[in-house]
Amino acid sequence: MRTESSSVSTERGKLFSWPWLLFPVVTAFLTAVVIILLWHNYQLNKKIVSLEQQIIALELRERELQSQIDQLEKEKQELLQNAVGLLRQKSTLMRKLMRELGLSRYVRRLGKVTKGQGGPYLAPTEQYKLLLERMDKYLKVMKHVPLGKPCRGYISSYYGFRKDPFTKKRAFHAGIDIVGPYGEPVRATADGIVYRLGYQRGLGRYVKIRHKHGYITVYGHLCKYIVRRGERVKQGQIIGYLGNTGRSTGPHVHYEIRYWGRPINPLKYIRAGRKLAHLTQ
Ligand SMILES: [Zn+2]
Repeated sequence: MRTESSSVSTERGKLFSWPWLLFPVVTAFLTAVVIILLWHNYQLNKKIVSLEQQIIALELRERELQSQIDQLEKEKQELLQNAVGLLRQKSTLMRKLMRELGLSRYVRRLGKVTKGQGGPYLAPTEQYKLLLERMDKYLKVMKHVPLGKPCRGYISSYYGFRKDPFTKKRAFHAGIDIVGPYGEPVRATADGIVYRLGYQRGLGRYVKIRHKHGYITVYGHLCKYIVRRGERVKQGQIIGYLGNTGRSTGPHVHYEIRYWGRPINPLKYIRAGRKLAHLTQ
């Protein structure tokens, strides 16, 4: 009987011991899985929070940059507006200068707005471009107008009637005399073509340049000229050197401007040259 009962209890022990042994293992495993999942969840949440913070920071930065861009755009518009204002002022002065020089027809022609550019409003950039183009056209006309002095030095004798230094009689002086150091470079006062040069008893060694718009300039008493007949010269190009040739009482340049064949007072053009230099600074 004893043997029988002990064998029954051993079988019962076998039957119950396996699940009981498995239970803590499974529980431990599941707990571990849950802990791992919770840990991952915690880590993900941490990452999400950090990313959200980064997004907020980036949004703030973007807003800051946008406001900086807006500020810069505002400043750019202000600068552009100022530049347009300045250019418009210069353009007005330029037109005034050209009218003073009898170039009103070019002012009228170049001042017109080109086809297709009309309209009540133009953006500042467009206005600036248009004004710049117009200024460029004005300057192109002015390149062919004799402006400024042909050389450094002071004016010793003006245009008009004066006492002739040789005959001591009243005589008409068709140009101005500029006294400067012997050998001083003498420059063309406008773009043009050398149409005559040589030696005359009165003018000495001289160069005559024909320009557009009806102008001719004459440079007399040179010690030397370095251009040829028919040569194209640019405004400011050296054409010869100051001398004392011909009917001259000392080293100087006799400078004349002729407009459609008649001598005119170069002083106005010398002053205009100064004004233009100021305008294009
Ligand atoms: Zn003279």
